[in-house]
Formats: sequence, C-alpha cells, structure tokens
Amino acid sequence: MKNDKYIPVIGLEVHVELKTKSKMFCSCKAEYFGEKPNTNTCPVCLGLPGALPVPNQKAIEWCVMIGLSLGCKIPLFSKFDRKNYFYPDLPKGYQISQYDEPFAINGSLKLKIKNDPFDKTQAFGSEAQARRGHPEQSRTDEKLKIDEEKIIRIRRVHMEEDTAKLIHQGQDSLIDFNRSGVPLVEIVTQPDFESAQEVVEYLKKLQQIVRYLGVSDADMEKGNMRLEPNISLRINDKELIGKLPNYKVEVKNINSFRFVEKAIEYEIKRQEEILNNGETPAQETMGWNEKKGQTVSQRIKEEANDYRYFPEPDIPPIRFTQDQISKIKSQIGELPEEKLKRFQAGFGLSAYDAEILTREKPMANFFEETIIVGKKHNVNPKQIANFLINRDIDINLTLPAQLIQIILNATQTDQIDEKELEKIIDKVLKENPKAVSDYKSGKQNAIMFLMGQVMKNFKEKIDAEKVRILIMEGLR
Ligand code: ADP
Ligand code: MG
Ligand code: ZN
Repeated sequence: MKNDKYIPVIGLEVHVELKTKSKMFCSCKAEYFGEKPNTNTCPVCLGLPGALPVPNQKAIEWCVMIGLSLGCKIPLFSKFDRKNYFYPDLPKGYQISQYDEPFAINGSLKLKIKNDPFDKTQAFGSEAQARRGHPEQSRTDEKLKIDEEKIIRIRRVHMEEDTAKLIHQGQDSLIDFNRSGVPLVEIVTQPDFESAQEVVEYLKKLQQIVRYLGVSDADMEKGNMRLEPNISLRINDKELIGKLPNYKVEVKNINSFRFVEKAIEYEIKRQEEILNNGETPAQETMGWNEKKGQTVSQRIKEEANDYRYFPEPDIPPIRFTQDQISKIKSQIGELPEEKLKRFQAGFGLSAYDAEILTREKPMANFFEETIIVGKKHNVNPKQIANFLINRDIDINLTLPAQLIQIILNATQTDQIDEKELEKIIDKVLKENPKAVSDYKSGKQNAIMFLMGQVMKNFKEKIDAEKVRILIMEGLR
C-alpha cells in the first residue's frame, strides 16, 4: 500500500443501539426485534404534536460509559439538538441528536495490526502447510505476529434516537415505528484509517467493548450496530500527511464487517480511476449493493447547515458533576485490553491464547472459574487454556469441574501400559494411510476411525481423549 500513488483516508461513523429497558424519550420498550409492527409505540415516539420527550437517564449514563471506555473527555455541560430533515422514517420531521455539545469528545482506540498466520502469501514451508488441516495444532503453534500499533482518534460519542424502519414491498413502502426512539449512540472517528483491514480491526474492538460494558448486544444481523465509512484518497506525498482531500464519499448504513470491507475496497478502486483521469470524485452519499458488489449513489451530500440544527427546546441542557462522572467510571469494570494483559502476565498465556480467551466475557469468566477448581487438582491455567482453545468445549454445556475432569482423564499417565499403547498407535497409523491422509487434508472425522482402531487393539480401558491427543502427536 505504502508505495502506491494514493493513500486511503477513511473516517468512521458507527451507530450502536443500547439495550436499555425503555426507549430514549418515552417509556415504550427499547427491544423491538421480532415484535409485531407498530405495537410498541406511544405519542412521543410516533412524534405526535404536543408530546413531550423525557430523557432516559440510563441511556445517557451508558453513552458516557462508552465515551469513558474510549478514553474520551466528558464535558460537564452538554445538550440535545434537533436535526431537521424530512423523511418518512422520522415522524417529527427532526431527530433529537447532539450537535456542538456531545456527551464525550477526544478519545482514542489503539489497534494492533496483525499478520494473518493463514495468509497464503506468507511462506511457512510444507510442515506448516500440513498443519493447516489440523486446527488443534496450528492455532496454538503459530503465533500471530504483532507488526504495528496504531492509534485511531475518536472525535466524539453522542446520543440520539433511532428512526422508524421502512420496509419496501414491491410498489409499497411500509413503516414500522417500533424502532422509533430506541437509544442510539454514535461514535465518530477522525479520518485516521488507511485501509479496510484497519477499519475492521477497529470495529471488532469497538463491538467487543460495548459488549463487555453490557450496554448493547452489538448484533450486526439485528441492526444493533450500523456502519458508515467515509472514504477519500490523498496523493501519497509526505507533504500531504495530515491534509484532507477536498471531497469525501460516505457509504451509509452497512450492516456487516465483511460488507464494510468490500465497500471500502470498491470505493478505493473507483476513486483511484476517477483521480487518474484527472477528475475529483463527487462528494456524495452512497449505499452498498451487495448483489451488484458495488456502491451506488444515493444523493449528493448535504452540508450540516442543511439540517438547521438548533437546541432542543423541550429538554434542558445536561450538567454533570465530577462525582457523577466518577461514579459512572467506577461501573466500567475490566475492559478487554486490561483483561488480556492480566491473562498474559498472571497466567503465563501467550498473547494469542489470551486474545482468544478474552474475546468474549463469558469465555473469560469460565476460564477464571475453571482455574479456581483446577488449583485443587494441580491443573494449571496453561493446561486449561489449551483445552478451552483446542477442544471446542461448549462452555454453555460444561461446568468448570467437568472440564477439570476431562483434563485429568486425558492427561492421566498411571495405570496403563504406555509403551504398548504407543506401539499400537504406530501400527494403526502405518496400516491406515488413507485415514491419515484424509485427516491431514482436513477431514476431521478420520481421527474418529483411527481412535476406534487404537481402542479396539488396546486391551486396557483407556480415556478416548488421551488416545486422541497421542494420535495427533503421532501425526505431527
Ligand atoms: P459531515 O459534517 O459531513 O458529517 P464530518 O467532518 O463531521 O463530516 O466527518 C464525518 C466523518 O467523515 C468523520 O468520521 C470524519 O473522520 C470523516 N472524514 C472527514 N473528512 C474526510 C475525508 N476527507 N476523507 C475521509 N473521511 C473524512
Ligand atoms: Mg455523516
Ligand atoms: Zn414511545
């Protein structure tokens, strides 16, 4: 990328729906997924004349919490504004949002730009090649290289309300107001990204943080998290670092990480061609058409003054005390980054293992609970981590004590005749080259056959997990 003629300049706007009990300005339920259309409304969220909005305190606290987690400053004074525009999904004719005094400003998020260990362009030699068919080994053996750390500056985190949902059916457009007024937090970055990969890395981190905070499910498929990349290209010239191109293209409302990646890559190519023709891409708002695999123009971009922002007269400004902000901060708990460091330092895990175990909080909690049980049985955290990562343990169906039992059974060395067992495994592997090559080419089930053969030939009672481990070692 760095040697190219242009460098992508990308900024992101992300909308996250909060999972509060009620909506932002009324007492209707905030959960709308799967509800019968228009059953979850009231005069406030239908925008009927005279209805008065009452701000949801929990939503505001959670918005501040997201801001604090992203290292933002929380101004002691903020307010709501009206963003005026006309569209059927907005019954009032304006959206209550925040303009010049948002709840949180000037934060940052640190990215680790990783090498993909499965990247085919990276040479690993035949041994690693063979291991790719063995997820049990490859995942722990090949560590991710950390190339680069990069800070993405967060411009602001503000609070607004979601709009109604339009459903297009042939000639008709239907409106469902159940979503109207659901608390929505918008997180806006500076244009600091230079590739789609950086954007996706950021999105994964952001999603992980809001899930850790417990303020949103951030479920892309349900529309809890919606993405808008702004993309432009600058000439690759040292003089121009930090200078922004005089146009940008915004791609609206993308609901998948994969699509955001594709949309950005598509735009980079499209804009490059325009620039190479000596022209400047139009400043416009686009959508991503997944069927066509391209961005499609929606409208030529409006300026902020088209929205005629003005202070929301029905809601007094919000004033925080330092104490209130400290109290919100104290509710944050351990964030993914800190947990990852603690798992590495405290339990001696590799960065790679720690990353997997901290990806989701329930997994991290299960791991820590199992460590406590493991202590009584001399099972160490590293062993527990190995089993959790390599054995597809379903933590919803397994108790910590059960996992310890599985580990103990699998690693038991007494009682059985080890030498005899090894001999049998060698013999089975030699006599069944087809099953061995099937397994190596990715057919996981082949190992079941090999295990069956070994257990049939071995006269003593033996734990299947132990046989599996020994066979896999034999296959290395
Ligand atoms: P608008 O007023 O059109 O919403 P903003 O300046 O508020 O524009 O920026 C919106 C988003 O666009 C931010 O994430 C910002 O980082 C990004 N952005 C601003 N200028 C550019 C640019 N030239 N190229 C790419 N992204 C940009
Ligand atoms: Mg915008
Ligand atoms: Zn309502």
